[in-house]
Amino acid sequence: MRDKRIYLSPPHLNGEELARVQEAFDSNFVAPAGPMLDEFEETFSSFTGIPYCLALSSATSALHLCLKHLGIKKNDIVLASTFTFIGSVSAAYHLGAKIVFIDSDPNTWVMSEEHLKTALEGLHKQKLKPKAIIPTDLYGNCINYYSILELANNYHIPVILDSAEATGSIHKGSHSGYDAYASVHSFNGNKLITTSGGGILASHDKNLINHSRKLAQQAKEPFPFYEHKEVGFNYRMSNICAAIGLGQMNDVEERVSRKRHINNRYRRALSDYPNISFIKETPETESNFWLTTFTVTSEETTPESLRIALELENIESRPVWKPMHLQPIFQDNLYFGERESDVIFKHGLCLPSGLGMTEDDIDRVLKIITHELKKN
Ligand SMILES: *Cc1c(COP(=O)(O)O)cnc(C)c1O
Repeated sequence: MRDKRIYLSPPHLNGEELARVQEAFDSNFVAPAGPMLDEFEETFSSFTGIPYCLALSSATSALHLCLKHLGIKKNDIVLASTFTFIGSVSAAYHLGAKIVFIDSDPNTWVMSEEHLKTALEGLHKQKLKPKAIIPTDLYGNCINYYSILELANNYHIPVILDSAEATGSIHKGSHSGYDAYASVHSFNGNKLITTSGGGILASHDKNLINHSRKLAQQAKEPFPFYEHKEVGFNYRMSNICAAIGLGQMNDVEERVSRKRHINNRYRRALSDYPNISFIKETPETESNFWLTTFTVTSEETTPESLRIALELENIESRPVWKPMHLQPIFQDNLYFGERESDVIFKHGLCLPSGLGMTEDDIDRVLKIITHELKKN
């Protein structure tokens, strides 16, 4: 019989969720409104220190509302990390924005300040003013907030941080997203915490959150009848999903230390292999290491050969994100960089990093990887 399957990052339940869901059922708030939704927003807000939080059906919808509030429309320029997941830029795409992609620092993999600076200067010379910058806290690693924010502030451009992967990550003592104009966080099934699916828009700007709350609920005006001065969306998180989230919020810090432990075990075991290079945390970041990621740059062992070797042993691993400037749909978009993420994409792999992984599971993964690397 085959050993049990090890997944990349499956949902991890701590046992508190069902009691909170039962509570939601008992109150009959089986609806996209209710006390658990308010409590989930308050809990997330006090955990991150970000004063205003709005719980939604996904991080993708959170980005959509934020860009809508900022008035992003057809042909507006939006700068974004190229090395990210599509959800980071799909809202800007649907609003008709022209997305300009910025490449990564080759060590930390997050948006390079140098390339951002070049892009901002270049666009400024052409009298083009971007309406927003959307950098990604990649695999839990935080961007260099202060240098990115300084560049953005020079041109008065709001930074909306895609922190979908970085719930629980800390940068210079603040929770990921704290310093940006707004940030989005994801509670999809594979993320650090899950509500089965969901997201949060978080900000210091009360107007943004109040307007987004209205937009997320079909933009009804506060009248007893149905009155519309603008058209919104149906993007609210349900009270039941919020109940799951409340259960999950009980042990976020333990989750982060568990992820860091898994990452540390992989790093230590593979530190002697010169062809292996792990993502580097930006200075003063405590990453949640949502997924452990590395590049392998040997002639004989490729990420794909490692992935297949793992798959034969019933272990799931995945290539890293394919950069947006390499996607067929974005082939004509402007791009600033020196192909750093092309290289990471070619050589990168995401290792199983599930919170439920045992020490034996990690050994199983490592045994196969080291075996593959020693073959040559
Ligand atoms: C998961 C993810 C998203 C999308 O989150 P959803 O909640 O699934 O919409 C966006 N950006 C990044 C970088 C992600 O990893």
